[in-house]
Amino acid sequence: MVILESVSKVFRQGREEVPALSDVSLRIEKGECVTIKGPSGCGKSTLLGIIGTLARPTRGEVSLDGTRVTGLPEHFLCDLRRRKIGFVFQHFHLLRGYSALENVGLPLVPQGLREAERNRRAMPLLEAMGLESRAHFPIHHLSGGEQQRVAIARALVLSPELLIADEPISNVDADNAALIGNVLAKLNREGKTLIFTTHIEPTGALTPTSTYTLAGGRLT
Ligand code: ADP
Ligand code: MG
Repeated sequence: MVILESVSKVFRQGREEVPALSDVSLRIEKGECVTIKGPSGCGKSTLLGIIGTLARPTRGEVSLDGTRVTGLPEHFLCDLRRRKIGFVFQHFHLLRGYSALENVGLPLVPQGLREAERNRRAMPLLEAMGLESRAHFPIHHLSGGEQQRVAIARALVLSPELLIADEPISNVDADNAALIGNVLAKLNREGKTLIFTTHIEPTGALTPTSTYTLAGGRLT
C-alpha cells in the first residue's frame, strides 16, 4: 500500500543544502507493522512526513494504494489524508486551551458533527488509552505520557487504515510504553497498517513485521 521509489529530500536553510533523505526505496504492505529506527537526525521524521504526504520529496516517487501522490495538488492530498491516514506527531501538536476530549474530537469538526456526537466518538478512544478520568482536563495539565496517549487517540478518531506515529513509545515511561505498545498491537491485529519510528525496542505485544534502519538519510 506504501511504495517509495528512490526518494530523496533536501532541505534548504539559507544558502545551505541539508540532505535529510537519500535514495530511499521501500514497500510496505497493508496490515504490516513497521518500525523505522536510527539515531537522532538520521531522517526518521522526514521519512514519516513524506509517507504521510505532509511533505513532498525533492526527488523520487511515492505511491499510496496504487496512486502516485507525488505532484498531486494539496487539496487532493488533504482529502486522502483525512480518509486514510492518522498521524501522531513527535511533539503532539495538541491544542492548548482545549480539553483532552475536545482535542480527540477535533478531526470531526470539519465533518460538521455536533459537540455531543464528537464527544460520543472520542470518549471510547480515551477510555482505550486509560484516560477517561482526564477527559475534561485542559490538555496542558496532562503529563507527557498522557498527552502522548491523547495524540494517539486523536489520530484514530477518523478510523484511518494507516497509522503513522513519530516516536510514540520513546519519550514515555516503561508503563506507558507497554500500554501504548498493547494498544498499537491490538490495532494492528484488527488490520490497520502501522508505521512508527522508535529508538527503543518495542515491548509487550507489539512485534514489528519489518524494521528499517536509517543512517545519515540512507536505509542500511
Ligand atoms: P530524525 O527524526 O531522525 O531525528 P529528521 O528527519 O527530523 O531526523 O531530520 C533529518 C535531518 O534533516 C536533520 O539533520 C535535520 O536537522 C534536518 N532537517 C529536518 N527538517 C528540516 C527543515 N525543515 N529545514 C532544514 N533542515 C531540516
Ligand atoms: Mg524525529
